[in-house]
Amino acid sequence: MNVNLELTDHCNLRCRMCSQSLREEAHGAPHRFMDFATWAHAVAGLSDLEDVTLCPHWLGEPTLHPEFDRFVGHAFAENAGNQRFRHFKLHTNAVIFPESRGALLTQLASMPGAAPDTFLAIHFSLDAFSPEVYTRVKGADRRELAFRNVERFLEVRGGTVRPVAHVAFVVQEGNVHEAADFVSWWMPRLRASGREPQLTGEWPAMDSDAVYLRRWNTSDQARADTLHAEACAAVGLPVRARAAGSF
Ligand code: SF4
Repeated sequence: MNVNLELTDHCNLRCRMCSQSLREEAHGAPHRFMDFATWAHAVAGLSDLEDVTLCPHWLGEPTLHPEFDRFVGHAFAENAGNQRFRHFKLHTNAVIFPESRGALLTQLASMPGAAPDTFLAIHFSLDAFSPEVYTRVKGADRRELAFRNVERFLEVRGGTVRPVAHVAFVVQEGNVHEAADFVSWWMPRLRASGREPQLTGEWPAMDSDAVYLRRWNTSDQARADTLHAEACAAVGLPVRARAAGSF
């Protein structure tokens, strides 16, 4: 069971393809940060559920929470014997991702007392290759920072397997021509860990790093599927029909 505990609905970007960025109020109320008592209570309550995969975000950017490290550290400290959650996943745009955060997350992934595959993956939403296209797609000039942060995380993680890194590129109007450059940039950087990463147009498996050309979920799905097929063909991936219910 996936459980999303949204640390915040604030975001520091305004991606063109994201409903969060298209509304002033993501939930019909002013943006907020979760307080620690709510987080601790919610994490404790996970014990009543089975086979939980915990994800600390829904609509916002979780690392924007001023106490992100404390909250996530608390969840793992409570999880001896996987009594709170079986798996953990993080989605982030990597804009606020200092070296210390990468080191902490790597350390939490190998915390004794929990299964070694507890911290499955970090999904890095990058969505462009050049600074110009990044700024257009993501709504802010943060390409250099985000790329550098992901590269540094890979260095800090070193040869450790977990958490695996998925660098993602939502294929859409205005960035499809950069898909091949994106793949060429990230595949060797992921390979530097000593393991072969996946290159995929569908949700990546959670057992290895991946470059993920993600399908755009939009009202004009036929157009999005055409763009996705174009990007896949450009990097030698098989073009597959959209699976029912996929997003
Ligand atoms: S970084 Fe994520 S939450 Fe923020 S606008 Fe982009 S897709 Fe939406």
